[in-house]
Amino acid sequence: MEKYLQLSGLESLIVRPESNFINIGERTNVAGSRRFLRLIKEKNYQEALDIARKQVNGGAQILDINMDDGLLNGVEAMQEFLLLIASEPDIARVPIMIDSSKWEIIEAGLKCAQGKCVVNSISLKSGEEQFVEQAKYIQHFGAAVVVMAFDEKGQADTLARRIEIIERSASILDKIGFPPEDIIYDPNVFPIATGLPEHQRSGIDFIETCKWIQKNLPYSNVCGGISNISFSFRGNNFIREAIHSAFLYHAIPNGLTMGIVNPNQLEVYDEIPKDLRDIIEEVIFNKNEVASEKLIEYAEKTQGITSNKEEKTEAWRAFELEKRIEFALVKGIDTYIVEDIEEIRTSFENPVEIIEGPLMAGMSVVGDYFGSGKMFLPQVVKSARVMKKAVAYLEPFIEASKSEAHTKGKILLATVKGDVHDIGKNIVSVVLACNSYEIIDLGIMVSEETIVNKAIEEGVDAIGLSGLITPSLEEMVTVAKLLEEKGQNIPLLIGGATTSITHTAVKIDTVYNCPVVYIPDASKAVTIVSELLQDKSQFENHLNQKYEEIRVGYQRKNEQKTFLNIADARAHKFQIAHDYAPAIPRLQGVHEEQNIPLDFIEKYIDWSPFFWTWGIKGMYPKVLKNPEAQNLFDEAQKILKQLVDGKKVRTRGVWGIFPAKSEEDDIVFETNKGSRRFLTLRQQEQKTSKKAHYWALSDFVHQKKQDYVGCFAVTAGAYFDEKAEHYKKIGDDYQSMMHLALADRLAEATAEWLHEKIRKEYWAYAEEESLENKDLIQEKYQGIRPAPGYPACPDHLEKDAIFEVLEVSKRIGIELTENKAMTPLASISGYYFAHPEAQYFGLGKIGKDQVEDYAKRKGMSIKEAEKWLATSLNY
Ligand code: SAH
Repeated sequence: MEKYLQLSGLESLIVRPESNFINIGERTNVAGSRRFLRLIKEKNYQEALDIARKQVNGGAQILDINMDDGLLNGVEAMQEFLLLIASEPDIARVPIMIDSSKWEIIEAGLKCAQGKCVVNSISLKSGEEQFVEQAKYIQHFGAAVVVMAFDEKGQADTLARRIEIIERSASILDKIGFPPEDIIYDPNVFPIATGLPEHQRSGIDFIETCKWIQKNLPYSNVCGGISNISFSFRGNNFIREAIHSAFLYHAIPNGLTMGIVNPNQLEVYDEIPKDLRDIIEEVIFNKNEVASEKLIEYAEKTQGITSNKEEKTEAWRAFELEKRIEFALVKGIDTYIVEDIEEIRTSFENPVEIIEGPLMAGMSVVGDYFGSGKMFLPQVVKSARVMKKAVAYLEPFIEASKSEAHTKGKILLATVKGDVHDIGKNIVSVVLACNSYEIIDLGIMVSEETIVNKAIEEGVDAIGLSGLITPSLEEMVTVAKLLEEKGQNIPLLIGGATTSITHTAVKIDTVYNCPVVYIPDASKAVTIVSELLQDKSQFENHLNQKYEEIRVGYQRKNEQKTFLNIADARAHKFQIAHDYAPAIPRLQGVHEEQNIPLDFIEKYIDWSPFFWTWGIKGMYPKVLKNPEAQNLFDEAQKILKQLVDGKKVRTRGVWGIFPAKSEEDDIVFETNKGSRRFLTLRQQEQKTSKKAHYWALSDFVHQKKQDYVGCFAVTAGAYFDEKAEHYKKIGDDYQSMMHLALADRLAEATAEWLHEKIRKEYWAYAEEESLENKDLIQEKYQGIRPAPGYPACPDHLEKDAIFEVLEVSKRIGIELTENKAMTPLASISGYYFAHPEAQYFGLGKIGKDQVEDYAKRKGMSIKEAEKWLATSLNY
């Protein structure tokens, strides 16, 4: 890597850290491309420039330009074309390689190429004197140079000759002070498998030369014209691309740093059929006598298979119409779908039949693949995007024909009042839509009246309720009660992070005389819904039986569990040692972080949960072995890069550190506006050990000594919510979910970044800490940042206190809904505790005595307290 960094001047343009290899575009070469030659001859420079542009877009990091043709005025053509490129910013952002065997063309090119360029090539062919003269001329322009392994005796074709010439060239260039990092050696790529014995070592000798240069001339680069290696397989692109990929695969780690290739036409090494790959490798490494013959035989068999990437994607366009539609759906390609639907429209009397026929047929393939694990969620979401585009196109025709598509059922989805959880609901929506259910999505924060009225009005077959925060559980019960009151018979589906089968069975199912079905995760939705709608009464019987067992089990478990009364639990609190000296914060009071650079935050991202959101299990970076995960990751990186470059988005935060003491289970903060009390909750479930602590967060703050506590809120901002909403509106759930998932990661990363700042700079109780991101993810640092709504403090209501003392809404624009969900979606708030023994714990269930005590401390009714603590009650 360092090697490229020294290729002075070019570095920012051509170094791609992920590839470690520089692609040189070869299509702007009149000797190699008949089309380019024709365009230059006709002086059709616009189209010629398009070829250049296409290569840059395809990933070329340098453009090789060659005008060597007997019927062309090469000097003029080179000059004209280079001047035109200079005024095309999207092409001119990559350096030019002036490629010619005629010195006057090179001179002409050097005079009008802008920026640092590369000359291809010089050699010792006509002796040392000319070599030196040309090298000095090039050096004068500050250009880099390709040095061919060629001398007075001819072109080097063995390992020994290559080394001999390169060594000699290097020592001459060294004498004249040519910077080694501006030298690119070309050891000559010769064809393999030509049937001629002198070509048997073409592959391996080239690779060995690369290795030698890497070792002996470590500052210089090595380049090769890759397509030459497969020259004897002209006309068989399938074999050629496979050879190129395999060759690069082995040459790059051995020191090849640049290659003249068509980046649009490279097969993925792993996608070369294994048997072919083995044969090619035998040939490259000259493993045996018969390898070449085997490869030639293989090539004959595959003659006619087109494989280059451009053609491969287009080949399906030759399928018959319905197959094309299916292909587009399965592959998630929306480029031609409108065109194809328009074409098929004329052969159907009623446009609805197109949805019910070919489109649903295609989606059912998608559904099957997903069901059997052959497709992943992100792919399904892309398929849904194609489906939506097709349906949107057909809609006006359907309206005109006054008919309605016949679906498997109509499902209404909503996130309940006070909750903003969206992404899980969207996943269910997409997955069900893919399986031919019609979805009516009412969005987030939907009141029970709206849900019930809309469901009745639309005559839906089921209602799906989603929620993330604890109070939503109660909201779901409210919806069920209202349905019961109105004598409805519409099954309920329940999903979302805080929901559980037990809560569904115990609390929701018991108030509504109709199936209330718990959906454990989005991928199960289809099976459950289809069983439910097929035979409701059988499903209900089954469900009732299961729920009865759960209710009995729940009862029994509760009876078995013993609880300390709250006074006893308090007697067993964790006590901070008497001699503990709380760290005095360097900074106190409330502070804002308004301008956190995104590229800074990026390094703190914990990527694993990003993949979980998409239903892909596993840990980052290992999870990237899954190609679908890699695709998602690439996509996310692309968006991130745009955001970082565009500087449009910043994450924001506000934090405060205050003097504090604990009083029983409360923590009393001293702010400059007076004191503020934070309520914490204490464990009551009996533990086996007599010495066990019954934790509450207040235990981490000293009762008597002057201690400190912090709190914070961070957000990725409304930008992402708006984007997600926009994409959803235009039917692009994939981009919508991508933005939500990314925003969530950025918010978490901001929290991680800020917490580190707190530990090392602001509170500065751990100035010496030095941890890598993976250690941060594993929370190897001292102190914790518990968040309301999480197991140690399940009560969302305490967000009010954080929002008040930090003036969160005013300062960074996060708002709380009536049930204390935060908007924008990607927002986090929490406390900071610095004590070395501070740790996360789960509150578990608590007794009515603590609920009563809590209600009193809070000044609210017991009933209200029970709503906020719904998931924690032991009764
Ligand atoms: N690296 C993770 C971090 C978030 S999860 C990510 O990017 O998603 C960990 C956070 O959840 C903690 O920092 C804390 O804020 C919260 N948390 C975890 N366990 C908790 C508990 N038992 N009680 C309170 N908060 C908890």
